Amino acid sequence: MSRLRIQGLLLSLSLAFCLNPAFAQELSENDDPSIQRVAPFQVFDNLYYVGAKWVAAWVLETDQGLILFDTLYGDLTDIAIDGIRELGMDPNDIRYVVVTHAHYDHIGGAKRMQDEFGAVVLMTEEDWAMVEEDPIYREYPKPRRHLVATNNGTLNLGRTGLRFVKTPGHTPGVLSTRFTVYDKGFPFQAIMFGGVGLNFEGVERTEMYIDSVKRLQRMGDIEVNIPNHADSGDVFARYEMLKTRKDGDPHPFVDPETYTAWLDQLLINAEAKLLQEQAALN
Ligand SMILES: [Zn+2]
Repeated sequence: MSRLRIQGLLLSLSLAFCLNPAFAQELSENDDPSIQRVAPFQVFDNLYYVGAKWVAAWVLETDQGLILFDTLYGDLTDIAIDGIRELGMDPNDIRYVVVTHAHYDHIGGAKRMQDEFGAVVLMTEEDWAMVEEDPIYREYPKPRRHLVATNNGTLNLGRTGLRFVKTPGHTPGVLSTRFTVYDKGFPFQAIMFGGVGLNFEGVERTEMYIDSVKRLQRMGDIEVNIPNHADSGDVFARYEMLKTRKDGDPHPFVDPETYTAWLDQLLINAEAKLLQEQAALN
C-alpha cells in the first residue's frame, strides 16, 4: 500500500481520536496498559517512541542525558518508563520533560518524572496556569512548577538544541518544539505540533489556532512530523515501513509533502469551525 493510501485510511481515524472531546472519557480501553502497550522503538539515531497506542511519548537522546516529550498518564506512564529501560536507556537520565499541553493525557505523568527521576518539567506560562485551575477532562497529579518555555525560546542539553514555538488554540499555551533528528548521521528538521485537536470553544481560541497553523506553515523547512498522538502522523504505519526499509530507500518519517498537506487540512477544518463559532454568536 502506498504511503498516501495509508495516510488517507488513517485520516478518518485520527480525526476521530483528536476531534472528539468525549473520546478519552468514553473508552476505558484507552486507560488500560495491557491494551495500550506498544513495544518501544527507535525511529531516528536520536529519537525513540515510548508512547502508548492512542497517545505518544518520545525520547530524544543527547550526549548529556534524555529529553522526554510528554508523560502519558495513570498506569500508562509505566509504558514510557519501561520503554526507556527496554531500549537500553535509564530513566534516571531524563533531564527535561517537555509537556506539549496541560491535558491529562500529556501531563499526567509529569509529577512522577519529577519525583522519581529528578526531571525538570517545561511548559508554557499559560499551561502552567492551567495546572492551578480545575482540570478540563480529568484530575492528574499536579507537577511542581519548574521552567517556563517561551515563544522562540531555546533549551540546550549537551550538543542538542530545542527551539520552542507557541502554538495556542487547543489549550491557551500549546507548546510546539523544533529539533534536529539524524538518520544514519544525516540531519533532518523535525517538529512536534503540541496540540492538534479542535475540541475547544470560542471564536478567539479558534482564531488563535488558525494563527498557530499558519505560523507552522510559514516555517517552510520542516521535513519530519513528530506527533503527540501517534495517528496524527501515522507513526505506526511509518514504523512498519521503516522496519522493512532497504538500503538507499528514503526514511519513511521524512515526508514534508504529507506534513504540508496535513497542515493545509488542519487549516480548512479550523476555518470551518471558525464559521460555526461566529454563527453561534448571532
Ligand atoms: Zn489535549
